[in-house]
Amino acid sequence: ENNSILKSTPKPGLFRLAWTREGIEGENGIYEIVDLSGSCEVKYFRGRYLGKGGYAKCYEVTQDISNKVLACKIVRKNLHLREPYQENREVMIHQSVKHPYVVDFHSYFEDDRFMYIILELCEKQSLLQLSNKRGAVTEPEARYFLRQICEGVMYLHEDENVIHQDLKLGNIFITSGMNLKIGDFGLAMELDRFECKQVGTPNYIAPEVVKRTGHGIKADMWSIGCILYTLLIGKPPFETGSLKQTLTKIKACDFEIPKGSNLSPEATRLILQLIQLDPSKRPTAREILMDDFITQGFIPDSLPALSLTEAPPFP
Ligand code: ADP
Repeated sequence: ENNSILKSTPKPGLFRLAWTREGIEGENGIYEIVDLSGSCEVKYFRGRYLGKGGYAKCYEVTQDISNKVLACKIVRKNLHLREPYQENREVMIHQSVKHPYVVDFHSYFEDDRFMYIILELCEKQSLLQLSNKRGAVTEPEARYFLRQICEGVMYLHEDENVIHQDLKLGNIFITSGMNLKIGDFGLAMELDRFECKQVGTPNYIAPEVVKRTGHGIKADMWSIGCILYTLLIGKPPFETGSLKQTLTKIKACDFEIPKGSNLSPEATRLILQLIQLDPSKRPTAREILMDDFITQGFIPDSLPALSLTEAPPFP
């Protein structure tokens, strides 16, 4: 029954109760999402559809009273019966991080059928749409994007011990001000907890685990290499017609920088350092920020919205 408040009792801690109601007013109806978890209820009015991912549908929502426009990621629960902790981990990790280049987490609540994750709205979609539209971008733009990605990832790795594990163009969102926000923590992993589970007594912890420079974070650096390659070349490094073939190529690190792509030597060198089989040889996010590609070339202070569709004129 659409208009009745769900009768289930709130679960303690993180998991809160919400209810949804199909509105009857207006041409298309109003769809309200009401967060009943706090001391007073918070109402969100559903706006335009933003997109969907593997697990979630995302809508623009306007918070009642404050009129704040946010994004709401709605995850249907019964799809997750086999992996009940997966989505909760997304929420736990995402709500514990805060950085200018990470999608801001506002709140989380749930009802019997759905989980609702209220996030900062990123109005200009993601780097995936930008890359699809633009093909190869200019090196100043790639530097501008890479610097923001690396500052966000450096924060996740060094300050929060979080490995994202799913960095890709589609998970790097773009705000109205053309700033990047790392999002979708659905596969993220907290290094500390991972280590506690994997490692028994501290007497035997390997130095790379203590230093937290283990394999974990370097997986993100490979992904950043693939992101940089795709931004500069216009297509992903291991793209083939089939998943199986792509995986074979990845395992052999079988990719090349096309002849005539006009990449600077600095860009080429950085890509080859990031996309290499030995994780320990890949630079960290902090090291990329000190790399010649970033420090020796022009980086614009901001990008015009024009960048979404065509190469902007740089002075
Ligand atoms: P999944 O975990 O299912 O992959 P995503 O987090 O990638 O879900 O979100 C699915 C889609 O919703 C994205 O591709 C994007 O179009 C849209 N989206 C997600 N988060 C936001 C946001 N903060 N602002 C704007 N759109 C978003």
